[in-house]
Amino acid sequence: MISCLMKKRLTAPHCECDCGGTTKGGRFLPGHDAKLKKYLVGLALSGKKRAANKLEQLGWTKHLAVAKQKRR
Ligand SMILES: [Zn+2]
Repeated sequence: MISCLMKKRLTAPHCECDCGGTTKGGRFLPGHDAKLKKYLVGLALSGKKRAANKLEQLGWTKHLAVAKQKRR
């Protein structure tokens, strides 16, 4: 029996930056992770809770922490 998760992995995955692109198996198209990271960190620093949540979802909270440290 194939789990839903496995099935999802087998179909063409969409780029997680919401550009609508389809990746070749990764979470992002080349360069899109860096773009999204920069964008979300910027939003989170200006107090956007949703951006901070998204960073957490993607496992990028440490990037936010680093950016916060640089600001001080
Ligand atoms: Zn993308």
